[in-house]
Amino acid sequence: MLRALGDGVRHGEAGVTEQPSTDKWGTFMSAYSPIYDRDGRQIGIVGIDVDAATFQSRMTAARRWAVLGLAPAVLLIAVLGVGHYRSRLRSLVDERHLRENAQRDRLTGLANRSLFMDRLQAALQRVRERQQPLFAVLFLDFDRFKLVNDTLGHAAGDELLRQIAGRLRAALRANDLQFHAPAGNIIARFGGDEFVVLLNDLAQIRDAIGIGERLLTALAPIYSIRDSDVHSSASIGIVTSDTGTEDAEAIVRNADVAMYEAKHAGRNCCVVFNDGMHQRLSRNVSIEAGLRRALGTSELELVYQPIVELETGRVVSAESLARWRSATLGEVKPSEFIPVAEESGLIVPLGQWVMAEACAMLARWRHEDPASAPLSISVNVSRAELATGERLLASVRATLGATGLPPHCLQLEITERETMRDAAATRQIMQQLIAMGVTLAMDDFGTGSSSLACLRDFPFQTIKIDRSFVSDLATDHDVLAVIHATITLIGNLAKHSVAEGVENAAQVAILQSLGCRFAQGYHFYRPAAESQLRAMLSSSDQQSQLARRA
Ligand code: C2E
Ligand code: CA
Ligand code: CA
Repeated sequence: MLRALGDGVRHGEAGVTEQPSTDKWGTFMSAYSPIYDRDGRQIGIVGIDVDAATFQSRMTAARRWAVLGLAPAVLLIAVLGVGHYRSRLRSLVDERHLRENAQRDRLTGLANRSLFMDRLQAALQRVRERQQPLFAVLFLDFDRFKLVNDTLGHAAGDELLRQIAGRLRAALRANDLQFHAPAGNIIARFGGDEFVVLLNDLAQIRDAIGIGERLLTALAPIYSIRDSDVHSSASIGIVTSDTGTEDAEAIVRNADVAMYEAKHAGRNCCVVFNDGMHQRLSRNVSIEAGLRRALGTSELELVYQPIVELETGRVVSAESLARWRSATLGEVKPSEFIPVAEESGLIVPLGQWVMAEACAMLARWRHEDPASAPLSISVNVSRAELATGERLLASVRATLGATGLPPHCLQLEITERETMRDAAATRQIMQQLIAMGVTLAMDDFGTGSSSLACLRDFPFQTIKIDRSFVSDLATDHDVLAVIHATITLIGNLAKHSVAEGVENAAQVAILQSLGCRFAQGYHFYRPAAESQLRAMLSSSDQQSQLARRA
């Protein structure tokens, strides 16, 4: 080796270990020698392991020689050896530190991705060789981390991550042992707010969900970050070794996919991966790409569903509903593409288009045939649009300005769920919208978690009672009682009630007896394109309808 390294390279004094060490190759005594370059800098160490039995027999022989007078020489060698062993041992310990540091996440002291992947590979191997029944990978994601980073600063974000790491350690009773116990559980941070856990000590699959839930409980309490209270719920995706995937990277990816589902299921929950999730994910990816292309083309259209006054049968308003016939995916339902649009932010341009289109339609109609035009047009506004705040206000103002539609002719529908999500901010925007003169309807009432009291707290003029209640009206007495109370309260608060999804005459009769003023549903009209709608509601036609109903 010295020859190979070239001129001037030399070796230093050799040292040997005192005790034999055992590894998978056998039991050895080791000797090391430093290698120096021509300037005397140490550029390496060469070591040799000698089979302990061989070493022992040589030593015995040496001792025999010592008896013959070589004792001083042996002693000298031994003393030198011990000295070097000591220094070598020190550098070995340093090396281990270095190696560990390279496998640690500096911010939290948890394992990093590289160590985690090594351990996952090892777990796969143990399961394959039946040394371990199973393992599970938990992928965690925190919904408020970005917000904390953006609003309180990076130092606060770091502090949150450290506190999260501390809670995870405590909940899993993991300490630094994880670095030295290759078959133990391990917690890693992959960067950002992605934490990943490998559970190696599971007896059954179910336990993984139990532990996931324990982690959620540990992570739920409020964090105190630099005098601010931060609430940060987690979403957890779980993959267990029985899915049969042998590829460590794929296992982590699947756990990520399951985490994404957990986020969609409403956060603060655990979801176990299954194969269907991949299909859903790729379907969503193609919906997003398709929708991006469809914006501004004739693939997207609006239909309008009339809202009638029960007493008179007169059409007072119409709700605008988006329809998408994709060139590549065929007809895609709003219940499928609206959530994707919300997730991707496409809902903002989509919503603007819907509002502009709907307002233009009513303005045209009012101009051409005022007698048959409904009093207002209803447009759904989703959370992502509400979250744009000023932008939504500006877009409403611009649309009304451009179409010349009076503000009271535009009604915005906001679902009960969205109202409750960020109540203070939502209320503020709602007040500004009311100040502009547009009217507001609470959509899907009864599907969220709000109490009847919140009907009073938000400035809605109209409450739309969700279809699920209406469909149970004729069969379920409890529902009947609830709807009765709701309609009475809505009336007492001087707001209008609209029953959604009315499909038959029995429901109409009950709703009327309960004092409900307006209704919408297939029993009256299905959503229809502008031309169809105008034909249905043309003055003469409506007259005959009214006559028929009377
Ligand atoms: P939604 O706001 O509750 O709209 C009412 C939904 O109920 C519509 O479904 C409508 O076609 C359906 N419907 C009306 N009457 C009946 C009935 O008698 N029986 C039954 N079974 N269903 C009835 P659609 O058009 O599929 O829309 C689904 C949801 O998608 C809407 O629920 C709304 O949340 C969302 N959506 C649709 N268009 C838009 C839009 O332009 N913007 C936003 N943000 N959301 C939209
Ligand atoms: Ca609606
Ligand atoms: Ca609704």
